[in-house]
Amino acid sequence: MSLFAYDFMIRALLGALFTGLAAPAVGTYLVQRRLALMGDGIGHLAVTGVALGLLTGTSPLLTAVVVAVLGAVLIEVIRERGRTSGDVALALLFYGGIAGGLLLTGLANESAAVLNRFLFGSIGTISEGEVWMTIALAVVVLVVGVGLAPQLFGVAQDQEFAQVAGLNVRFYNVLVAVMAAVTVTVAMRTVGLLLVSALMVIPVATAQQFTRGFRVTLVLAMILGAASALGGVTISAFVTFAQTGPTIVLLALAGFAAAYPVGMLLRRRERLRAPFEVGDYGYALGADHTAVPEEHGHEHSPTCGHHAVPHGDHVDYVHDGHRHAPHGSHYDEH
Ligand SMILES: [Zn+2]
Ligand SMILES: [Zn+2]
Ligand SMILES: [Zn+2]
Repeated sequence: MSLFAYDFMIRALLGALFTGLAAPAVGTYLVQRRLALMGDGIGHLAVTGVALGLLTGTSPLLTAVVVAVLGAVLIEVIRERGRTSGDVALALLFYGGIAGGLLLTGLANESAAVLNRFLFGSIGTISEGEVWMTIALAVVVLVVGVGLAPQLFGVAQDQEFAQVAGLNVRFYNVLVAVMAAVTVTVAMRTVGLLLVSALMVIPVATAQQFTRGFRVTLVLAMILGAASALGGVTISAFVTFAQTGPTIVLLALAGFAAAYPVGMLLRRRERLRAPFEVGDYGYALGADHTAVPEEHGHEHSPTCGHHAVPHGDHVDYVHDGHRHAPHGSHYDEH
């Protein structure tokens, strides 16, 4: 294996492996909270961070992580205060990030090609120091993302319920934002700042084709992310190292394209069996019937508009968050 004899190949594979694990770990929470593009926004902001590093002659990785974390907290604060104005504020932040980055790069007398390495990734040029920093940051993200999974998922799933349950919702929201910022920095040498969001979101979307429970989704997404990243590095090593980032993203997309039809079949089959999401925090449906004594003002029929589920010798209806069947004078709860 002459390929692995090269130090840079080992550095590239290590960087890719840790990026591939960390990005979907954070992405799972972002997708759950319908903030799939948050990573993209932070990525745009981090461009200014990289340019600051180039201008001041310090490590672009270091300045990027500082700017990304500050930007992520700012985004979270803006996001908290209403949706419509928040959208516009976010957009302004992103354009400012890109424009500022390009301007500062010019001031630093660096060519666009240097910035390109960070925008679309360039793992072939990653230094040993950058690999260690990538691994260290990724490990922090993984420890927090997996270790605090119950709390983070509780907040992502239902903010109000989490608040009632005594969780500090604002703290965990900011924590996810900071994790996203660190991940953007981790990923910038592998997939690049403008493609990082893809590695956060696509493996999660692919995993969701097969799984419902959040824990399983998290683990499967991390496996898929690592596989895409390692595969992308290996494939691009045979062609040109400059295209590692796009190769990783296209590989992840190919995985999604292959998984989608399978997921459609699984969903259709599941819908016939149980209409509810049976996840870690979903409704647990008993197999047998429990009689419900109270009056039922509505008579279910095939035309009543409620979802009908054939079940053995009778038909159940999905109604008010329950699934039940009329049985004489009472309703059988499931
Ligand atoms: Zn009905
Ligand atoms: Zn039934
Ligand atoms: Zn009913």
